[in-house]
Amino acid sequence: MSAKLAGGLNRHEGHCRMPENSTPTRGVPHADPRSPYVFDLRELGRRAGSLKHYRRSVPAPAIVGPQLIAVPSGAVVRLDVRLESVTEGVLVTGSVTAPVSGECARCLEPVRDELAVELCELFAYPDSATDRTTEEEEVHRVDGDYLDVEPVVRDAVVLGLPFTPLCRPDCAGLCPTCGGRLDDLPPGHAHEQIDPRWAALASRRDTDTASKE
Ligand SMILES: [Zn+2]
Ligand SMILES: [Zn+2]
Repeated sequence: MSAKLAGGLNRHEGHCRMPENSTPTRGVPHADPRSPYVFDLRELGRRAGSLKHYRRSVPAPAIVGPQLIAVPSGAVVRLDVRLESVTEGVLVTGSVTAPVSGECARCLEPVRDELAVELCELFAYPDSATDRTTEEEEVHRVDGDYLDVEPVVRDAVVLGLPFTPLCRPDCAGLCPTCGGRLDDLPPGHAHEQIDPRWAALASRRDTDTASKE
């Protein structure tokens, strides 16, 4: 698995691991043939080596949980996938591109970017050796004539989101004293540190000055 934010805000590198890229859930409801995430395998056939390439624009998968950055609900996600018939099932490889928006972890400015993640996932045939030797939650399964990539896409997107989104790699964050955004403040922005023992005197002096006016 490798993922990158196209804008270069953050970068995760890895390699395609199988089959533990994404965790199938036990007892998943049957694939809905009308879902844009579902592929009809009758177009591919079961002859090993058979290939199909699909490009689809699909609505963003539902992602739950609080995140500093996320794919906005209703956003269009682009799938560019290759389905390959292999002895044990169908190998899904390709990429997912999604817009992401959120806020900078340091200065809270809005952050918008595009996330690109790669997919590499085996969906086992129900009558394969893989099916007999693995648990349902270890390897995804082909569901009859259909293959539902939504859980795989969702997991890949979640794993690809940066833990610490930044508006720019060296964002200076916020001033701990006044809360101003340091990148917007003049260089060397600082506050005079007044000893608390003198603070009382200083405020009395201010009051005296005010009363003389
Ligand atoms: Zn920032
Ligand atoms: Zn300040």
